Amino acid sequence: CGIVGMVGEGVKIESLIEGLEKLEYRGYDSAGIAFPEKQRVNVHKTVGKIANLKEELAPFMKSTITAGIAHTRWATHGAPTGANAHPHTDCKGKIAVVHNGIIENHSELRKKLINSGHKFHSETDTEVIAHLVEEHYEGDLPSAIRHALVDLEGAYAIAVVHADNPDMIVAARKGSPLVVGFTESEAFLASDVTPLLKYIRDVYFIEDGDVVLLAPGKLEISRVDGSTVKRPVTHINWSE
Ligand code: GLU
Repeated sequence: CGIVGMVGEGVKIESLIEGLEKLEYRGYDSAGIAFPEKQRVNVHKTVGKIANLKEELAPFMKSTITAGIAHTRWATHGAPTGANAHPHTDCKGKIAVVHNGIIENHSELRKKLINSGHKFHSETDTEVIAHLVEEHYEGDLPSAIRHALVDLEGAYAIAVVHADNPDMIVAARKGSPLVVGFTESEAFLASDVTPLLKYIRDVYFIEDGDVVLLAPGKLEISRVDGSTVKRPVTHINWSE
């Protein structure tokens, strides 16, 4: 029920986990992270508290990654198992997706995707997003996501990484909260501002139908039709 993403120099696995811990109050039954590494997405997920994920990742906590996404789940579709924990991946293991919300037309989309050869590994509504992005990907991740969103009905905040674009996260929302921000060398996203306050005070609240490209030192917000938009900056004064 919470998502976090970080891209840029000096992003550590530890930083993502710390971000997730700030969202733990939103509820959880499992947690996971994914990051591009050696032409694949590396995924780690565990059932239960974030402490369990932390334990599994203990040897890697200080490792630096180019981009990472993380999730605490509150299951709506599919039992709270390891297989159903997020992130979810495409068939080739190149794309990873975290999602908050519900995809209402997931069973219809799943049927179509299975008919066109996709193999599913979970019972979640979320997994269709990974396969849809795979289906639409032709080298441009934001564009693939804009196309995938056209097919989705329901509520979502999503964040996606692709192994062929190791310095990028693409996020989008409709009906679920999402806030983003950036420094000179990094960019951040989360379900609420609390994980971001350690790094930034100027944040952007993303609107329904926005697609955001996050790269080191850069944010680009577009609409589903590809046109770019600006969102007002909000300065957060409260202490961490
Ligand atoms: N509907 C998704 C699932 O059940 C996401 C739930 C959430 O927001 O944590 O996996």
